[in-house]
Amino acid sequence: MLVVMRKDATADQIKGVLEAIEARGFKGHPIPGAQRTAIGITGNKGALEAPVFESLPGVLEVIPVTHAYKLVSREVKAENTVVSIGGVAVGGDELVVVAGPCAVESLEQTMTVARAIKASGAHLLRGGAFKPRTSPYSFQGLGKKGLEILAEARQETGLPVVTEAVDMEALDLVEEYADAIQIGARNMQNFSLLRRAGRAKKPVILKRGMSATLEEFLMSAEYILSEGNYAVVLCERGVRTFSDFSRNTLDLAVVPAVKGLSHLPILVDPSHGTGRRDKVAPLSRAAAAVGADGIMVEVHHDPNSALSDGPQSITPEMFEALLRDLRQIAPVMGRRL
Ligand code: PEP
Ligand code: MN
Repeated sequence: MLVVMRKDATADQIKGVLEAIEARGFKGHPIPGAQRTAIGITGNKGALEAPVFESLPGVLEVIPVTHAYKLVSREVKAENTVVSIGGVAVGGDELVVVAGPCAVESLEQTMTVARAIKASGAHLLRGGAFKPRTSPYSFQGLGKKGLEILAEARQETGLPVVTEAVDMEALDLVEEYADAIQIGARNMQNFSLLRRAGRAKKPVILKRGMSATLEEFLMSAEYILSEGNYAVVLCERGVRTFSDFSRNTLDLAVVPAVKGLSHLPILVDPSHGTGRRDKVAPLSRAAAAVGADGIMVEVHHDPNSALSDGPQSITPEMFEALLRDLRQIAPVMGRRL
């Protein structure tokens, strides 16, 4: 249920509604809008008695929220959410480009890639310090040392950093070092990790699970918001289908679907979405054209010797050419780059 306050509602009246919600054992989530504040209610099992809240001072109306997900829904917040990652606005006018290696391999490798993507115009640096690998014998990431390298790359280039937290222990460290916490596809339904991310003081980039429906994807985001962290960016990264020409099938149709149902920003990751270097630029261009708020791409200066995801990593030269194309597409979609 959503309690919509009057335009002229005072801070005390908003507080009064929050207290009434809490007195009933539920949780109130104030959502400031351009016109007025709304308060989402979670924690109730069934329908709430609307008249109780309608009669409180400052309340305009009480609206039932029909979707299973509440706080991520446009029913609760009509305006787009803009998430600030280290000062970079995701979900605003600018098409945001997140780039970097799949994994942080060494200081030299990360610096080389970070300098190159910065020179081409990237906004955020990505790179895994903790890697979720299919094989236990594959490179698992440098751990804390990798986070220190990312911090050094940020220091030199000024690019805020995004990196994955694979478990609770990693999340504590990632929250300390990074500008945004990435929750990977394999953890999209790790509900205790989602709750922990919901209590984090940093924004979260939530990747879609490889077999997740749109409803499941949004419900996972709801876990994070329900704990009080409203700074969530979704990321489409492809789902498993019978298609045999790419690693995953990048579901670009989910972008307008998300835009209709949710106020949260959404990025597209064509690197994991296709698994093939030659498909990353075409699908990145398509992502910008379909209305994504940005892209996340893997870049490596020597992809053939990359310790993970070399085949889908583009070179700095390919990245530079891609950004030239995106600069032409972005204005068509009403965006800057
Ligand atoms: C990644 O972005 O590093 C990653 C592991 O992606 P995903 O979780 O989408 O597989
Ligand atoms: Mn990867």
